[in-house]
Amino acid sequence: MSETVEAVVMTGPGRPLDRRKFAAPRARPGGAILEMVATEVCGTDVHLHHGRLSGVPYPIIPGHVNCGRVLETGGPLQDVQGRAISPGALVTFFDVFGTCGSCWHCLVAKAATRCPHRRVYGITTSAADGLLGGWAERIEILPGVRVLPLPEGVEAEDFMGGGCGLPTGFHAVERAAIALGDTVVIQGSGPVGLNAAIFAQLAGALAVFVVGAPSARLSAARKLGAEDVLDITSAGSGEERVRWVRDRTAGRGADVVIEASGNPAAVPEGLEMLRDAGRYVVVGQYTDAGDATLNPHRHINRRHATILGCWGYEFTHLHRALQLLARHNARFRWRDLIPREYRLEEAGQALEDMENLAVVKAVIRP
Ligand SMILES: [Zn+2]
Ligand SMILES: [Zn+2]
Repeated sequence: MSETVEAVVMTGPGRPLDRRKFAAPRARPGGAILEMVATEVCGTDVHLHHGRLSGVPYPIIPGHVNCGRVLETGGPLQDVQGRAISPGALVTFFDVFGTCGSCWHCLVAKAATRCPHRRVYGITTSAADGLLGGWAERIEILPGVRVLPLPEGVEAEDFMGGGCGLPTGFHAVERAAIALGDTVVIQGSGPVGLNAAIFAQLAGALAVFVVGAPSARLSAARKLGAEDVLDITSAGSGEERVRWVRDRTAGRGADVVIEASGNPAAVPEGLEMLRDAGRYVVVGQYTDAGDATLNPHRHINRRHATILGCWGYEFTHLHRALQLLARHNARFRWRDLIPREYRLEEAGQALEDMENLAVVKAVIRP
């Protein structure tokens, strides 16, 4: 084992990335060390670089969704089915840890993604605490972190093509409670929107429409089975976009609308796209991008709308999304969402490309 491990550190909001050497970690009892195979650069990392998330303990090693090979374990390690995970196994892990299971949020509200003790690799872990982010040659799996072996036939790029959008899109579709034959509109064609489009189809939607940009992401949506797509850069006004949806839904609006755009103005617009007594899920407002004005009478009360928020994801979403990816990999080809891969020293370029929406999914191979 080499003595040092290289990692890319985000030193603070708006500050340049820094390549640093860390002492090679050893597995703690109940933990493990992974040799990194692939890590993602996602919208969250762009937000982190701009300081748009609160409570981030800079300097951090970004990279919250990862894939690696087990280098060593600190004693026996098992997956959720009780099968042994041995050195050499290709795995991912649930990036959330520390969810306490004993606070009011965990026990009474049963809303584990709102547990105040919850921590996330690459987001709320400081570089001072070690290799707890994926932009590195190795990563430490802390005791209690849940490791998931990639199912038979799934390679690192298949899983990373889904990335964090995979369980997030899955969770949004679960919240939407799509019924067989529902018509669904997805606002936003980023990784979360595209994965929501996939899972909406698997949930039995009759047709999925995607409203977003740029055109490369919309053609990806078409390949993934979207019935039709609308480029927001060519359909100038909100009224035009709402009309476009109503034209495709017998004038009534969609049964389900999922907001995955991150733009607050998308919310009142999306509610106009929703049919009476429809369900609206907000998953795209991951940072505070400002306010939007609703008309409570027209948008909510008279429409008899159900509006649901969707924060983060739990182990169950990652587990089930990964099993579905393995089953439907030939149909949806998640790996095609990765137009190019980057080396660790190209992390800054990957961040820039992600910010400019030049790529759907940016993956680093350390
Ligand atoms: Zn808790
Ligand atoms: Zn992410």
